[in-house]
Amino acid sequence: MEDLIIIGGGPAGLTAGLYAARSRLKTLLMERLSPGGQVLLTDTVENYPGFPEGISGFELMDRMRRQAENFGLEVQSRDIIQLLLSPDKKEVVTDKGRLETRSLILTMGATPRKLAIDGEKRLTGKGVSYCATCDGPFYRDREVVVIGGGDTAVEEALYLTRFAKKVHLVHRRDELRAARLLQERAFAQEKITIVWDTIPTRVLGNTGVEAIELKNVKSGDVSRLEVDGVFVFIGYNPNNELVKGLLELDSAGFVTTDNDMQTSVPGVFAAGDIRSKLLRQISTAVGEGATAAFAAERYLENMT
Ligand code: NAP
Repeated sequence: MEDLIIIGGGPAGLTAGLYAARSRLKTLLMERLSPGGQVLLTDTVENYPGFPEGISGFELMDRMRRQAENFGLEVQSRDIIQLLLSPDKKEVVTDKGRLETRSLILTMGATPRKLAIDGEKRLTGKGVSYCATCDGPFYRDREVVVIGGGDTAVEEALYLTRFAKKVHLVHRRDELRAARLLQERAFAQEKITIVWDTIPTRVLGNTGVEAIELKNVKSGDVSRLEVDGVFVFIGYNPNNELVKGLLELDSAGFVTTDNDMQTSVPGVFAAGDIRSKLLRQISTAVGEGATAAFAAERYLENMT
């Protein structure tokens, strides 16, 4: 039996793994593919302390993984099918068998939210994208639209100006949600045009994106914008499929915890983007991962 199983290998999971490995807990980190999480989709991280020139998302996560493994963290690629959670028994059912554990830290993160409009699904991968770092280089000297007004949308719109000749940023209100610094950069970037008070209603095209249909929410006017790519950054949904009905969730489906990352089931902790909280950042995920590992260690000590 494991002392601790960590599910998810983003910043929260890898930090929990680092702390647990240093505490000499018998720990296993499970990740569907390979560790890294959503940060891998970020070109440059510039607000994680300690890197004054910024650091690529890939390099930061590679460093976190190597650091945890240097202290003995075992990482396995596993598809998790089911969790059985009770105060007395915790079991992880995977594609390669069942494992029992005395405690669990859940760091499954979140997944980009979809617009749920006509044409979006059909043209995903054919011009509709949720990752500028992955697909931006395909749009050299072309025209793209970015949907959203938060940090992600503005940051990715700025990134896309490296390639695209024009970036239309479509936001449903008349004020951006993004941090002021990002807003200032977007306003100063000549390639970015902001389309206010507007929502997308259809993605148009046969074999690839040709245009997007937009609706002004104040006037009701419908228009068509010819673009080659549609980048959607409208927030995230928690990856809570495994814990629905097992743990307490908030109204948006994020896992609720106390200050020590303890969920509604004793011995089950949650950290990072899956957790109900104010700020989703690498820096907050890392702190929560450390707290969860420490709390799990305490929980195990009190069990014996
Ligand atoms: P977010 O902050 O939730 O923003 C989502 C944006 O999409 C909002 O502007 C929202 O409009 C809009 N939106 C939501 N649903 C929509 C819909 N159906 N149609 C059209 N627009 C829609 O999400 P995020 O920008 O991905 O950020 C998530 C978290 O990560 C935040 O905590 C953010 O601070 C953090 N983050 C930080 C950084 C950084 O620090 N560099 C980078 C990326 C993300 P409204 O404004 O009207 O609600």
